[in-house]
Amino acid sequence: MNVEANASSYDAIVIGAGVAGLYQLHKLRSLGMSVRVIESASGVGGTWYWNRYPGARFDSQAEIYQYWFSKELYESWQPSERFPAQPESERWLNHVADKLDLNQDIEFNTRVDSAHWQEADGSWAIRTDKGDRLEARYLIACTGMLSAPLEDVFPGQSTFQGQICHTSRWPKEGVDLKGKRVAVIGTGATGIQATQSIAPEVESLTVFVRTPQYTIPMRNPKYTEEDWKHWSKNFTYLKDKVLNTFAGFDYDFDGRSWHTDTPEQREQTLEKLYNDGSLALWLSSYPEMFTEAEVSEEISRFVRAKMRARLNNDADLCKLLIPTSYGFGTRRVPLDTGYLETFLRPNVKAVNCRETPIEGIVPEGVLMQDGSVHEVDIIVLATGFDAGSGALTRIDIRGKEDCSLKEEWSNEIRTAMGLQVHGYPNLFTTGAPLAPSAALCNMTTCLQQQVGWITDIIQYAKAEDKTVIEPTKECQDEWVRHHDEVTNQTLLPLVDSWYMGTNVPGKPRRLLSYCGGVNNYNQHCVELARNNYPGFVFA
Ligand code: NAP
Repeated sequence: MNVEANASSYDAIVIGAGVAGLYQLHKLRSLGMSVRVIESASGVGGTWYWNRYPGARFDSQAEIYQYWFSKELYESWQPSERFPAQPESERWLNHVADKLDLNQDIEFNTRVDSAHWQEADGSWAIRTDKGDRLEARYLIACTGMLSAPLEDVFPGQSTFQGQICHTSRWPKEGVDLKGKRVAVIGTGATGIQATQSIAPEVESLTVFVRTPQYTIPMRNPKYTEEDWKHWSKNFTYLKDKVLNTFAGFDYDFDGRSWHTDTPEQREQTLEKLYNDGSLALWLSSYPEMFTEAEVSEEISRFVRAKMRARLNNDADLCKLLIPTSYGFGTRRVPLDTGYLETFLRPNVKAVNCRETPIEGIVPEGVLMQDGSVHEVDIIVLATGFDAGSGALTRIDIRGKEDCSLKEEWSNEIRTAMGLQVHGYPNLFTTGAPLAPSAALCNMTTCLQQQVGWITDIIQYAKAEDKTVIEPTKECQDEWVRHHDEVTNQTLLPLVDSWYMGTNVPGKPRRLLSYCGGVNNYNQHCVELARNNYPGFVFA
């Protein structure tokens, strides 16, 4: 296997050294395979390397945002709080890489530019921005669901005389915000975290709101050694539990129904889960929230009332910051720490950029369509990502007969369970479209499950003396049909957001994350493996 002269040859190339890529490297190495990880950052961490903006933190509890393959590893890290911030998550992943001695097999500061399938010998020819030429039997893209930032959003950005920065490209050395006039554009989970964190230190903060978000106050107690001993004792329980719930958390819909509960019981349940300060209200209250417009509206009403109280019933703020055009949970629900209260500060102003859209950026600041300019020193773009597909379509990936993934996905995004794509043999993906991921899943659960399945199928092929793995067209078609069927039973496809790809102009509309449940998805994957992978061709 060496079609390209002077190419370095490996059994597998993994793209990305985040949560999935690190685990994938570990797993494949344990099969005795030669593996190289290509990582564009200067260190490990993926999401937790890139998202250094003030306030960045995850909202799965630390006891389940974990790897499950080693109890010793679990016990060796002591999270400082229930929802640790970015610096701690980055340190944690460095700790994992050190413990497993992974860095020696990672090429940092290097980006994969292209990957072309070589039919003649069943391998991938890979080129990087450093000019490296690599070859590998398997190519595994652990490129992340939310890693292709939408950075170039407004005309005139390069003319801005101050500093402009996308949240996921926040400089390592930080940005001096003290005493500055700052604009935050975007009020998704990222914009919310940035807004609440930046406000106290800046001279003035202008937040541009196009679509408001339902948001829940985060309850984030510190974790002691005793707490971690408690969670460590529950390691096996948690490890099994997360794979058997709807969203990969330790909480779940537990058979409670909106229709059989009395109004008092509903109120009690919503109140209790709201006060948990986690995503439990969303992912473990009433499943009808996702499928029945009336239930969705009732639960939305409950959350709106909480938000109104937090905004001191200020009519203007309530109108701008409380959603009414879509239901609670049909977009990603963020947890916040004083986000709404931030707008009561004298140095914070909310601007309605749905009514008057942003026209562009001018040297002095943000230009609105009515000609007004908000003059600022720093612009924070919390404008999100080309989710799911973006990280892959930004690489020139070509499969059989030179088919281009970018071209195919510009028409329609199709995958076989988000794990492979028909026409692209030996290409495997994690956090990709049509698998459970960020939209409705605790990421460490989904990513490990996907890495585990990929490792198993590669091991199976090896045992069968086969070297090429590809899903049939029928297998992929069936998954897409099932995915759409499950999606269409919910309210999710009726709402615009990155979930549906509508935040990227021209992107084909399809729910990017599988919403049939992590538990059911995992069961399906297990069954496939148990039955020797029907729908997959081995050659
Ligand atoms: P996002 O949810 O896509 O939000 C982007 C924001 O930018 C939206 O408010 C959007 O408005 C606004 N925007 C984009 N283009 C605009 C324009 N031209 N004019 C005005 N506003 C514009 O992205 P995100 O906040 O980065 O979050 C993405 C996902 O990352 C989250 O949903 C979550 O899954 C994950 N995340 C998780 C955490 C956590 O674990 N705590 C934290 C951060 C992010 P519209 O809505 O109107 O388009």
